[in-house]
Amino acid sequence: MRLSSLAPDYIQAIAPYQGGKPISELAREMGLNEADIVKLASNENPLGMSPKAQMAVEDAIGDIARYPDGNSFALRDAVAKKFNVNHQQIVFGNGSNDILELAARAFLHAGCEAIYSQHAFAVYPLVTQAVGATGVVVPAQDFAHDLDGFLKAITPKTRLIFIANPNNPTGTLLSKDALRAFIHELPRHVLVLLDEAYDEYLNAENKSEAIGWLSEFDNLIISRTFSKAYGLAGLRVGFGIMHADVADMLNRVRQPFNVNSIAQVAALASLADDDFVARSYAANQAGMAQLTQGFKHLGLEFIPSFANFVSFKVKDASQINQQLLQNGVIVRPVANYEMPDYLRVSVGLFSENARFLTVLETLLK
Ligand SMILES: *Cc1c(COP(=O)(O)O)cnc(C)c1O
Repeated sequence: MRLSSLAPDYIQAIAPYQGGKPISELAREMGLNEADIVKLASNENPLGMSPKAQMAVEDAIGDIARYPDGNSFALRDAVAKKFNVNHQQIVFGNGSNDILELAARAFLHAGCEAIYSQHAFAVYPLVTQAVGATGVVVPAQDFAHDLDGFLKAITPKTRLIFIANPNNPTGTLLSKDALRAFIHELPRHVLVLLDEAYDEYLNAENKSEAIGWLSEFDNLIISRTFSKAYGLAGLRVGFGIMHADVADMLNRVRQPFNVNSIAQVAALASLADDDFVARSYAANQAGMAQLTQGFKHLGLEFIPSFANFVSFKVKDASQINQQLLQNGVIVRPVANYEMPDYLRVSVGLFSENARFLTVLETLLK
């Protein structure tokens, strides 16, 4: 007997998460120098982290022997002030993925359903299946979430709806009006988790106002992360904002020290560095224009994106991906998102985008 057979069927059925290939792994596999590899595969901030965060991290190294503050008080206070919410409305996570998982563990169980879109972020099915609940996939419309389809998919067993806005890996955005009207239609037994990992990359007009809707909707959970525009992906810190009663449930299943001390101080310093976020936004706008102009020049179709990545269509995505790897360029295959003809590339520095486009051009000849 294999011991794996002792795990519940719903655990055995989980397809493991496929992340972006680490630079060190490609260097080993292809015999390349790490310095010659360009990674545009995980939507990381090409500017790195805020210099203020870096100083805070260096200052905090000496305290590593101590347990972190399990309530992330200083960070909580800063988030509460920035977003004009109460301390009790905030839950911190080991990355915002942790918030998704805490919501699933608090509100889902075997026999109930979670709804998410086709081509939506891969972590939604993972956290749903991990607690034995049933995932219900709503077909996308032109790669975007179909909110009417979501409403039709609701049953008495539905407890949680996951919506990424913008969505990864499609980069599509739902309008604020459509989202708000959708939440208004939800029956009382359904919570919605609005994943806003890329909100910092939206222009002023598109930026989410959902935190302001919490006074109207107590079944809304908004998740944010420090992994993308704030450049702290390696430290793992994110948060959710929600009604205090909902936060109370997530905190009951949260590990007491899920956010480490270094992550807490780095996030706190980052939150105060508006200049760094503004530079990250500007660099992303420029890099996105560079990539999409490159695709047009190469005659490649792409899905217009509101985030810091863009999915583009090629004849043989798996072969092109392999050839990009051989040339030291890491992008993300998205066949596991039911997009077998697409590859997703993250917006990098000017030189990284240029290298990617140059290699791609030679492969298409
Ligand atoms: C990258 C991403 C996240 C962030 O994950 P972290 O755990 O915060 O690093 C969350 N949601 C979506 C849709 C993402 O693409």
